[in-house]
Amino acid sequence: MMTFYEMVQRNFHRAADVLGISDDFRVVLLRPRRQLIVSVPVRMDDGRYCVFEGYRVNHCVVRGPAKGGIRFHPSVTLDEVRALATLMTWKCAVLDLPFGGGKGGVAVDTKTLSTRELEALTRRYATEISILIGPDTDIPAPDMYTDERVMAWIMDTYSEHHGHQVLGVVTGKPISIGGSEGRLDATARGLVLALEAASRRLRIPLVDARVAVQGFGNAGRTVSHILAKEVGAKIVAVSDSQGGTYCAKGLDVSAVERQKDEEGTVLGAAGGDRITNEDLLGLDVDILIPAAMEHSITAENADRIRARVIAEAANGPTDIEADPILSHNGKIVIPDILASAGGVTVSYFEWVQNHQGLRWEPSEVKRRLKKKMEDAFTDVYEVARRNSGDMRLAAYVLAVSRVSEAYRIRGLYP
Ligand code: GLU
Repeated sequence: MMTFYEMVQRNFHRAADVLGISDDFRVVLLRPRRQLIVSVPVRMDDGRYCVFEGYRVNHCVVRGPAKGGIRFHPSVTLDEVRALATLMTWKCAVLDLPFGGGKGGVAVDTKTLSTRELEALTRRYATEISILIGPDTDIPAPDMYTDERVMAWIMDTYSEHHGHQVLGVVTGKPISIGGSEGRLDATARGLVLALEAASRRLRIPLVDARVAVQGFGNAGRTVSHILAKEVGAKIVAVSDSQGGTYCAKGLDVSAVERQKDEEGTVLGAAGGDRITNEDLLGLDVDILIPAAMEHSITAENADRIRARVIAEAANGPTDIEADPILSHNGKIVIPDILASAGGVTVSYFEWVQNHQGLRWEPSEVKRRLKKKMEDAFTDVYEVARRNSGDMRLAAYVLAVSRVSEAYRIRGLYP
């Protein structure tokens, strides 16, 4: 099976073909700038030492400092981190943010750590990657199983090393210490804005639309909440790593959230039927939102998808072999590097506020996010219209052309 990183490279080559980029220059654009592997020793509560492996990759910095989250998950590998770092380069370029792409991760199951152990792991990892990170070089943010508390520890660790507070070294911080209004739900809001833009263009109404959401972390949960409570869509199914819940009439999302908080899973929540993640993909819905991990939509299950629109909240949820099946079946895919870009967009706003010593009102953040998402959607849509309607290809073409333009105009050092 192709690895995640190989798939990300393939998608790049499809765009490079359209743009007529030469083979030698493709290598320059694709190779990660820096790849760091670190050992993270932690003194556990029982006195033992435990060494975790961590990574930080800067894929590209020609349009600005590297930007991208940190993931704490048992399945994290260097291959995955460089795939995700590469995706961040394209994501920031699609949104026209002055950033390149980066990503980090530690192979660890945070559910087995105490708060003290998690803090020790985070601070030591931050120390190990401090040769890369900085407010003008590489700026981390939350990703799977990292949150604003983890960002606060990274900011504090980095600031202690430098002898003064450095707010702009990470984004996704708590508001009380330089975080931005609207960052917590930004990925979800960005996705909803992309869906609204698509719905206007393609005349697909969102009110009463039937929606299935795979994954109930920060993105999936908040998307379900906003779509149900603010947009008037019907969330008919949600799932997490243990399975899901389905109700054709629409789930009570608040009840699902309560069960998730109390029992740690959405399985059978809100009185719905228990379903598997595979069942969820095949449901008769209008919109499918993969909000879990990579390798969710594969060549095996793509044909069973009945949704008309697939809006990717996760990074890389669709295997490259699944894409032609989806387009053959007439599906509209709003790709990850567009649909999930709300988070990094508000991260950019946070970084700007930190640099300027300003705090924007929630309404200001919302207004700017809306403009960014709508502009990016229009840019991608226009490219798609000129190139066979494939929105993923279009997003890559747009991103790769912006990055290669920056490369060419800067020239190569020395
Ligand atoms: N981890 C998020 C993403 O994959 C956010 C990155 C950021 O805010 O820098 O887009």
